[in-house]
Amino acid sequence: MTENAKKIILANPRGFCAGVDRAINIVERALQEFGAPIYVRHEVVHNKFVVDNLKNKGVIFIEDLQEVPENATLIYSAHGVSVEVQKEAEQRGFKIFDATCPLVTKVHREVQRLHDQGYYIIMIGHKGHPEVEGTMGQVDADMALVETVQDVANIKIPNTEKLAHVSQTTLSIDETQDIIDALKQRFPNIKGPNKDDICYATQNRQDAVKDLTTKCDVIIVVGSPNSSNSNRLREVAALRNIPAYMVDNVSFLEKSWFDDKYNIGLTAGASAPEILVTEVLEKLKNWGFLHIEENSGAEENIVFVLPKELRTND
Ligand code: SF4
Repeated sequence: MTENAKKIILANPRGFCAGVDRAINIVERALQEFGAPIYVRHEVVHNKFVVDNLKNKGVIFIEDLQEVPENATLIYSAHGVSVEVQKEAEQRGFKIFDATCPLVTKVHREVQRLHDQGYYIIMIGHKGHPEVEGTMGQVDADMALVETVQDVANIKIPNTEKLAHVSQTTLSIDETQDIIDALKQRFPNIKGPNKDDICYATQNRQDAVKDLTTKCDVIIVVGSPNSSNSNRLREVAALRNIPAYMVDNVSFLEKSWFDDKYNIGLTAGASAPEILVTEVLEKLKNWGFLHIEENSGAEENIVFVLPKELRTND
């Protein structure tokens, strides 16, 4: 191949999903309506650029509600919170806005319903992730967490026929299927959602990367290290034996990654803004990848409405 053939293929869809868009809009609108400071429990979405930008506008990110003063405006991050956190926030009398993604809230409702029906629930997810903490904190009951197929073999659960599983929304589609298969094998009567709980944005972005792996010899994922869905995108490529790197921003790119490469696949996690992709593109152009192609992929037109009090009339 000649140098002239070097190109970048952009994944579609990539970047912001409807839940991230809504969560950031909620914080921006609250800033406009009520002024700084606005308190947000946990990073509103897992992206350093987004979080730093909001900090500069007067948003204070906290993990513990004890850090929030009386009469403050408090927003829950897109990952959701436990019932305990909600109760504490309500008791403290904050003005509260819930930026939990509606698709995470749907899993919360599932957990509550299953618990009311007497099921013991097994969650598939990553230990310590705020979404998992929020979902497992929806009911005042013991739940099991599994992260791998191996965990399924090891978990100890009460002696009951009424077992159900739910999952974090941003997992690897393929790995989750393997875990669900292992759960069904060990517990043939286990009940699951009609479709797994992995959201449309995670599914579409992983499918888009799978497609890129058939066309590219290296893949770059724009995303912050703590972004679950961005990490999964990198893994999807790596599992298909395509070198794949995740970068928080353009400064993390290393020229040597592209030695002897002709087709770079470029994507972004659901919490990474397009401006960061544009900056990466510019750098890659400087390094000789002059042709840019938009790959085709699933069309997304989902929009989640803002809370009533924060909607504008325009
Ligand atoms: S990745 Fe999925 S669950 Fe998370 S905010 Fe986006 S749409 Fe919602």
